[in-house]
Parts: sequence; structure tokens; C-alpha cells
Amino acid sequence: MAVNESNDQQLDQQRKKIHDLLAAGLETDWQHRAYSDAEIQRVVQGLQGLPPDDLQGQLRIAGFTLTPYVSEEDPEIEQACATCMYYITHSRYCALPELKLGVEAEWSCNVWRI
Ligand code: SF4
Repeated sequence: MAVNESNDQQLDQQRKKIHDLLAAGLETDWQHRAYSDAEIQRVVQGLQGLPPDDLQGQLRIAGFTLTPYVSEEDPEIEQACATCMYYITHSRYCALPELKLGVEAEWSCNVWRI
């Protein structure tokens, strides 16, 4: 129980940090969506090449945004963490092995997957 509470607090702190960085204008690669296997590999390899705990690097390479991404080609589909296969709803957590971050349902990143 205590461990879970501690994890929850850590994830909350992480979400706040991510929110504050993005709200302060951290530039990320959000326009460069990773739809193909090759593009996903490019992002994943970029993330794997980061030093441990390089949160800003993760946000930049994975193209984080505080709002869902909507493409011009497919405007009826909102790309948000809430609908991503890596999103763990009950803990508001991104389980992509190269990210493993506390996130919010309305955030998005360039490796969003349905
Ligand atoms: S991989 Fe999915 S759950 Fe993780 S940050 Fe990107 S959109 Fe959100």
C-alpha cells in the first residue's frame, strides 16, 4: 500500500514536471508522426540513446503535446493518450518501455498507437 502511494506521488510529480515543461514552451517533435515501422524505430532508437532520466529529451523525441493531435488527413480521429494502446487508464501511465511516464488522458505523443 505504502509503495503504491509512493508510486502515485512520484507519477503525480512527474506529470506536473512534464506539464510545466511543455506549458513553458519546450519544443518537441510533435509534427513528425511515427506511423510506419521505420518511423517508430527511429523514435524508439532515439529514446534508447538518451541518458537515464533525460525527461526533456524524452518529451522532445517523442513529440509530447498537452492536447490531442488531430491530423488533417484524418480529422475525426483524435490521437490522445486516452485512446493509445500504451495508456494504462487506472494509473494514467504510459507503458511504452522507452517512456514509462505518468501522463494525462488528453496528452499525446508522436508514437500514439490505437
Ligand atoms: S505512447 Fe501513447 S500513452 Fe504513451 S505518451 Fe504516447 S500517446 Fe501517450
